[in-house]
Amino acid sequence: MATTLLTKNTNTIKPDPNEPALTPPVLEKQTTFARKPKIAGAPKSRKRDIPEGLWTKCPKCEAMVFDKELDDNLKVCPKCQHHFPIGARERIHSLVETCSFEETNAEMTSVDVLGFTGPVTYASKLAAYQKSTTLKEAVVTGFGMIGAHKVGLGVMDFEFLGGSMGSVVGEKITRLIEHATKKILPVIILSTSGGARMYEGMFSLMQMAKTSAALAYLAKLRLPYISVLTHPTTAGVMASFASLGDLILAEPGAMIGFAGPRVIKDTTQAELPPGFQTAEFLLDHGLIDAIVPRKEMKGRLGEYLDYLTARLGNGNVPASV
Ligand SMILES: [Zn+2]
Repeated sequence: MATTLLTKNTNTIKPDPNEPALTPPVLEKQTTFARKPKIAGAPKSRKRDIPEGLWTKCPKCEAMVFDKELDDNLKVCPKCQHHFPIGARERIHSLVETCSFEETNAEMTSVDVLGFTGPVTYASKLAAYQKSTTLKEAVVTGFGMIGAHKVGLGVMDFEFLGGSMGSVVGEKITRLIEHATKKILPVIILSTSGGARMYEGMFSLMQMAKTSAALAYLAKLRLPYISVLTHPTTAGVMASFASLGDLILAEPGAMIGFAGPRVIKDTTQAELPPGFQTAEFLLDHGLIDAIVPRKEMKGRLGEYLDYLTARLGNGNVPASV
């Protein structure tokens, strides 16, 4: 699986943890107060009672949810159970036993192989997202314990360039599967993606075949692969490793599909049924096996692994090999 030419291990781009705070420019003629003057005895305004950044409005039930409450609840609305996006590291933390996760290929970063030019260069996009997410790429891979099971775990992050799959995402996932195949371990991948990464053109599309081929080798050893689809999982990722699970799970309300609904509507010239491309719709139509709420995910994955690895003999060697 040779796309190593497209990848390199580098420490050159690092988020600067000591970035100085921005100082606003001094106005020559100050016509307004920088701060609202305090007036003794004045009633507190409502705005002051709700400081910005501490509350998030739920897009589904429109309730204002206290951010700390949302964090404690794994980014699930406590009122209506709407699943907000969650970062890769936070998700891994919610799934594996404490301190059991060992990341693999953590330093692998993308290269602008096509010399992509546009309003913004690919290199500057990468640098900006590495800084804003503190991730090197749109997937984090490694090995960890879920209950009593050691697993190869890949978790995508939509915040990094829409979870798009370029050479590095494809390579990290392929290496994860290959390592798991060598170690005789199950693989779990939690996907969220807008599809292939346009900045890498055909090299992105090649990752679909590469990841699928790696999974075929895992399947030859009859090692389990669980794919978990989270909001949204679409296009090239859905058309490759995300839809190849022995078990395919999804989070409630996740949008899952290949092309977007507008494209399908225009192509088929037909009205789309209600709930089209949601996890619930796809469960009813047999594409996925179960919908698992985020808070139950760790326990349910442990149960599924109990079943799927029961036939593995001592030392995890598959009985059939
Ligand atoms: Zn809600």
